[in-house]
Amino acid sequence: MHEEQNLSRRAVLGGLGASLAVAAVAPLEGVASPAAATPAALVNPVTKYPKPPFKGQSQPFPGLASQMDPRPDHGETSYKGSGRLAGRKALITGGDSGMGRAAAIAYAREGADVAINYLPAEEADAKEVIALIKKEGRKGIAIPGDLREEAFCQKLVAEAVRQLGGLDIVVNNAGRQQQRQSILDLTTEDFDATMKTNIYAPFWIIKAALPHLAPGSAIIGTTSEQAYDPSPNLYDYAQTKAATMNYVKSLAKQLAPKGIRVNGVAPGPIWTPLQVAGGSTQENLKEFGGKTPMGRPGQPAELASIYVQLAAADASYATGQVYGSAGGGGQP
Ligand code: NAD
Ligand code: MG
Repeated sequence: MHEEQNLSRRAVLGGLGASLAVAAVAPLEGVASPAAATPAALVNPVTKYPKPPFKGQSQPFPGLASQMDPRPDHGETSYKGSGRLAGRKALITGGDSGMGRAAAIAYAREGADVAINYLPAEEADAKEVIALIKKEGRKGIAIPGDLREEAFCQKLVAEAVRQLGGLDIVVNNAGRQQQRQSILDLTTEDFDATMKTNIYAPFWIIKAALPHLAPGSAIIGTTSEQAYDPSPNLYDYAQTKAATMNYVKSLAKQLAPKGIRVNGVAPGPIWTPLQVAGGSTQENLKEFGGKTPMGRPGQPAELASIYVQLAAADASYATGQVYGSAGGGGQP
């Protein structure tokens, strides 16, 4: 009966002119109703963004989003906030580009002050992000430095806490991915750099941050579909993503009684500098994302809302979870 009423109401609205239909669901005067916002057109996710073939391109590690062709979409012109993180204070590693940048833009538009970490070579990308955060009237704090050093990770957290005036969201998103066809080509220095960046840094950052995190705070790690279905040329990287998935679940159990939630995001192939700065072979890059059911790579903007959701207070029962976004592939 209820559904029938809805259907007939929809049929009635559908039969009216579009402007009349909008008027029919317009809010009462003085009553704010986000549900009555301008209707958005349906968008086909398959054709929403570029698909392969892509141009071959390579940059020295860590790469810049601004030098990629096509330029990735981090939600610069599209993400709309609705106060979901009002008053929050977030630290995001790798916040200059890729998923970290998409999260930084979204967090600021949701009302959070945001500190980002990145490597000094990424200053140009970081400057764009800081400007976008400040444009929202939020604090945007830039703290460059190398996460492979424990002392720097401690300094990073201390600086973020000092400049933000506290901390309640920590996003461990920075990552190193350098593909090698054979384990025989993987040097101890390579292996160590991947472990330090992807496993040690989150450990050091979480240890430093924990004394500052009150109940209601959230920790988020970026893992990967590689945690579950590792590629042959990502021997070192893939195991760090399995470790990330695992620490999320362990720490979630440890910190749940303290009211601190820990969750992960598992992206599929996403169009970011990581891939063009040694993460993929040129052959893979030209066909990047083409093997997913959607036939294209994801854009960082398409994951922003997941980082928001996992940080937001209304997701209060979600901890130890890994949310995927992989165009139909992946298995979080
Ligand atoms: P990205 O290159 O935009 O971001 C990675 C960031 O890591 C860099 O911007 C850099 O600032 C940071 N970083 C690397 N080494 C560092 C170091 N020693 N010190 C400080 N910062 C360092 O690429 P992205 O794809 O957005 O990567 C973000 C996360 O997403 C990574 O953890 C990555 O493993 C993960 N991920 C990416 C994909 C993908 O297809 N792009 C898929 C699954 C998971
Ligand atoms: Mg970068």
